[in-house]
Amino acid sequence: MENGSAADRWCFRPNDLATRSSGVTIRSVLTRVVSNLDPADPRPVIPLGHGDPSHFPCFRTTTVAEDAVVAALRSAKFNGYAPGLGLPRARSAIAEYLSKDLPYKLSSDDVYPTVGCTQAIELLVTTLASPNANILLPRPGFPYYEGVCAFTGLEARHFDLLPDKGWEVDLDALEALADQNTVAMVIINPGNPCGNVFTYQHLKKLAETARKLGILVIADEVYDHLTFGNNPFVPMGVFGSIVPVITVGSISKRWMVPGWRFGWLATNDPNGILQKYGIIDCIKGVYNMSTDPATFLQGAIPQILENTKEEFFSKNIISLREAADVCYDRLKEIPCIACPSKPEGSMFVMVKLNLSLLEDIKDDIDFCLKLGKEESVVILPGVAVGLKDWLRITFAVEPSSLDDGLGRVKAFCLRHAKKQ
Ligand SMILES: *Cc1c(COP(=O)(O)O)cnc(C)c1O
Repeated sequence: MENGSAADRWCFRPNDLATRSSGVTIRSVLTRVVSNLDPADPRPVIPLGHGDPSHFPCFRTTTVAEDAVVAALRSAKFNGYAPGLGLPRARSAIAEYLSKDLPYKLSSDDVYPTVGCTQAIELLVTTLASPNANILLPRPGFPYYEGVCAFTGLEARHFDLLPDKGWEVDLDALEALADQNTVAMVIINPGNPCGNVFTYQHLKKLAETARKLGILVIADEVYDHLTFGNNPFVPMGVFGSIVPVITVGSISKRWMVPGWRFGWLATNDPNGILQKYGIIDCIKGVYNMSTDPATFLQGAIPQILENTKEEFFSKNIISLREAADVCYDRLKEIPCIACPSKPEGSMFVMVKLNLSLLEDIKDDIDFCLKLGKEESVVILPGVAVGLKDWLRITFAVEPSSLDDGLGRVKAFCLRHAKKQ
């Protein structure tokens, strides 16, 4: 034997495509920053990297949602498998919830319950990944899209969001990217990582551009209604009669329960184009091959969507607005960080590092690793969301932690500033 004895030889091997596709996720980059923290620092670690506010008392979910899950579990009605495309009552509740903001009504047949918004994205990319097809993704964006595209073989092409225009889409560049193999464009609104909220007019232009190109729009609205600036949340589905729109969303962010893993995929297509072109049958097929969310969560979802009080939502909006204000004001005090626009939605802001003002910092990753080590503050390097030498900061944390964390960022930047 060439490679040692038979006992040393195994026939299994990893799927290199999977290893490569999972290389630059937010999780893997954050893990690197976190593993570089200094355990000897007695101060608490300030997590401004992840968008998961559920740990903080001020962002605890509503008891309406907790009670709904407990009641569904206790009822013993939801211990079995759910029917093929999900519990009908769950599907109709989601259709009802989404229809409140649309000029037409979705039916329960338009809705598929999923394991978080993540699974909705996976199902959709799988549906669209026919040979040679390509999809247009925003840059900066949400790297999970790139990951599933790489894994399914769907070619990803990137259009820029413009920092000087409130992170609006560069429409001309988007059009120039498309060809006859382009199947869809992805819009994340309210935006992660930029914290922007598109205007009605801009969304309409996007719909018209997609119509012109003959492609569908995937609207990632996982931050639906989390807006606290001038622009209200407008669901892309409003333009469903201009262009077919597939919405993905979840209760993860608005209800602050990302660990519950409950989301949905919804088709907004009053003209029935998706049906005609076989997309609906493919979605159903892919859904049937996959797994659906826990049945008791499907059982609880009607109560969660229908009974949550307005006060819960408005309290969170007030907290996020205050946090965004504090974040923006404190960042302005830091010379090597530029914040092109104040966040108006979601839980994040993108800021640009001016490395020429810093003495011994190579790039955004170096910045975040050193910041973690010296100040026990975790921030996501922009390269993880497609923009090198930028940073993504989440402000959805307890106000005192935010203040403390940004104070430490400032101290770090002053300490590393180039001496004149
Ligand atoms: C958080 C997030 C998701 C994933 O949502 P889950 O419901 O947690 O699976 C999808 N897209 C964007 C833009 C997100 O920020």
